Amino acid sequence: MADQSWDVLIVGGGPAGFAAGLYACRAGLRTVLLEKATFGGQIANAERVENYPGLAEGISGYDLSLQLRQHALKYGLRAVTAEVTAVALREDPKVVTTSSGATRARTVIFAGGGDPQPLGVPGEAKYTGKGVSTCATCDGPLFQDQPVAVVGGGDTALDEAITLTAYASSVTVIHRRRELRAAHALQEKARAEPKVQFLLETTVQAVRGDGLLQAAVVQDLATGEERELPVAGLFVCIGHAPNTGYLAGALPLDKGGHIPVNLWLETAAPGVFAAGEIRQHSAKQVATAVGDGVTAAIAATRYLRSEGHP
Ligand SMILES: Cc1cc2nc3c(=O)[nH]c(=O)nc-3n(C[C@H](O)[C@H](O)[C@H](O)COP(=O)(O)OP(=O)(O)OC[C@H]3O[C@@H](n4cnc5c(N)ncnc54)[C@H](O)[C@@H]3O)c2cc1C
Repeated sequence: MADQSWDVLIVGGGPAGFAAGLYACRAGLRTVLLEKATFGGQIANAERVENYPGLAEGISGYDLSLQLRQHALKYGLRAVTAEVTAVALREDPKVVTTSSGATRARTVIFAGGGDPQPLGVPGEAKYTGKGVSTCATCDGPLFQDQPVAVVGGGDTALDEAITLTAYASSVTVIHRRRELRAAHALQEKARAEPKVQFLLETTVQAVRGDGLLQAAVVQDLATGEERELPVAGLFVCIGHAPNTGYLAGALPLDKGGHIPVNLWLETAAPGVFAAGEIRQHSAKQVATAVGDGVTAAIAATRYLRSEGHP
């Protein structure tokens, strides 16, 4: 890969990246996708996806991610495991430095999504991997018949809470606001689970243990009262920070670290696009990430053919 020059280089093997790869390959472009971890992106960890348009029966997150990948590979996408660590976007072709060397491409699509945001409370780092987790599908089975809590009120938090009911004795959803942010259907599903209970207007102040996690210190925001909630597992689902650390200085980023784009997902650098959760104002759904990947690949194709926008 190192000494090749590509028409399109995609950073990130999630829904946005594979959708971009499918469209770029079908446009006849020599396309490579780089993924630093497991192919599939965040959705590969979702127990069940019920809101992907056209799949009325629902599908497991893993199967959806596999189908997105296989569809792109069928049309010639080259998918490589490598972490992108630096970029030079003003050069022509652009230079992308990875964990296994540098490569060049005429266009780049950033589709690196985000990583889970930490709570930032005392004890969290110490107990990560010893009770504190960000992935119920990965770590849920460790908490068989034990009490766990999920922090957050969005789709991901409730999806994780429902996943955990298969293992834990009880699942407490802790959310700082009075209203949950998750989709109505997901809220109804979670409320129907006898093991799930809700602690609203409540924050986690610290986590405690004796080598393994034993409790979360929670504060009731209405009364200010603090108490210990005994839990063996604490799943933090309060959002994702975009994977753009290596882009500082190479591209303008907004306050939250997302990449600003126009309606064609063009960034400030010509021939450089951003798709999915990594970009500013993403709706953070699989369907919108896939749509972004498609838009970015079409925009890259037109850029390479000097066609401008339709
Ligand atoms: C548990 C869970 C349940 C969810 N349920 C749903 C649902 O039911 N419906 C729904 O629509 N959405 C759901 N989502 C959200 C959905 O998964 C995301 O919106 C979607 O995956 C975003 O896609 P993406 O391609 O933008 O980014 P991601 O899925 O985050 O993929 C980005 C990829 O880029 C890679 N990467 C990052 N930086 C680099 C780098 N420097 N070099 C190489 N590779 C890099 C990452 O490792 C990752 O694999 C859920 C998310 C979670 C976590």
